[in-house]
Amino acid sequence: MEIRPPDPVLAILRRLWASGHAGYVVGGSIRDVLMGRVPHDWDMATDARPERLLELFPDAAYENRFGTVAVREAGDVREITTFRTDHEYADFRRPHRIEFGDRIELDLARRDFTVNAMAWGADAPQVGGPANPALVDPHGGRADLDARILRAVGDPEARFEEDALRMVRAVRFAATLDVEIEAATLAAIEARSELVAHLSGERLAAELDRLLGAERPSVGLRLMALTGILRVLSFDLDAQRGLPQNKIPGDDLWDHTVRTVDAVPVDRPVVRLAALLHDIGKPSTMAEGHFLQHDAVGAEIAAKLLDRLRSPRPVAERVVHLVRHHMFTYDPSWGDAGVRRFIRRIGRDALESLFALREADNLGSGQPPGSHELDELRRRVREQLAGDVVLDRGDLAIDGDDLIAELGLSQGPTLGRILDELLERAIADPTINDRPTLLVLAQAMLTEDR
Ligand code: ATP
Ligand code: MG
Repeated sequence: MEIRPPDPVLAILRRLWASGHAGYVVGGSIRDVLMGRVPHDWDMATDARPERLLELFPDAAYENRFGTVAVREAGDVREITTFRTDHEYADFRRPHRIEFGDRIELDLARRDFTVNAMAWGADAPQVGGPANPALVDPHGGRADLDARILRAVGDPEARFEEDALRMVRAVRFAATLDVEIEAATLAAIEARSELVAHLSGERLAAELDRLLGAERPSVGLRLMALTGILRVLSFDLDAQRGLPQNKIPGDDLWDHTVRTVDAVPVDRPVVRLAALLHDIGKPSTMAEGHFLQHDAVGAEIAAKLLDRLRSPRPVAERVVHLVRHHMFTYDPSWGDAGVRRFIRRIGRDALESLFALREADNLGSGQPPGSHELDELRRRVREQLAGDVVLDRGDLAIDGDDLIAELGLSQGPTLGRILDELLERAIADPTINDRPTLLVLAQAMLTEDR
């Protein structure tokens, strides 16, 4: 496999070489190219110090305190990091001090896995001479990649003690790269998985997101369970292991969860997260073979977990909402008003996600794809959404200001209650949704009140 970075990246490397510096493409991008994948970024490394990079690239800017500089080239932002070694991992997470280096080999030695510890490029050429870029692979990354093995660089336990995130990255890569974790590396994760508790929620969440973006996240999720990482991430998810579920013979509840996650299309990350958490309330609510209100309890547990992971609020709210409502039922005898009440309860924006979750839940329960009832509900929901019907307050022909102006009401609970009641009536019978009718009804409600 020939490595040929895109022209703007090559242009940066050439500028480094021409200025008497080493320049390499490094890390995940080399790994991806060798796997025949298209890298999503081309990280570069050099012996030039950050101040020097700012001189060489006039529109460059500091990215972080670890010596990474962002360079704009042909419209794209590219990252260049000065060779470095990491020191003083005090608390099982990021290094407290870094030291710049002059050799690519030193920089590769600090990286996590052999397949991530390769570079392609050249040191500073002889004055006037050409640079001869080549693959630099001191840890056997290429052979491991060919054999589809994920192996820690150096002593795995020591590397995981330096930075516990590497263990989570390992199970993530197992799923996203379709590689097997080498025996000693796996044993070290099992031995040190408790250190994951020291990581910040943000870093953990970022790896979890990437894992959930794999074709089959179950590969990584099952490894999390086997190694003990899952227990640190969520006691309740871990407690699903061994719990019975009467869906697929021989499967436990955790099997059902990971099957459900895999069954969600890869382009629906929020639903995948909801699938992971949908039954998180079951272990704590199990009594005599039933799971009383596991959806409501699960929504609370999910909210706490997502808070710990510092998930962005809109994501957390959507996921919790899906967990809360994943047990929805549908009865073909519902009238159209019933369908509209369902839409109102779930919320327009959440409907498609909830249906996707139910589909995955069914698949994860061993049911064949396609459900007549679900398809029917979907169709009926679509019909209502396409029609000129009332589904929420915004659809009413009047609003609070009208009631204040016409009926002399003031802001407050009465106003809100009357709007809600009007909404209920208009959901049941959309023909009343015009201004005069609604005002008459509102007046009547007000009189009844007195
Ligand atoms: P992706 O394709 O998902 O971006 P990646 O391998 O590029 O995967 P990044 O998180 O972008 O992952 O990191 C870039 C490179 O930095 C890695 O390939 C690896 O060499 C190194 N690296 C990242 N995180 C760590 C870590 N915690 N410990 C050691 N090396 C790391
Ligand atoms: Mg990357």
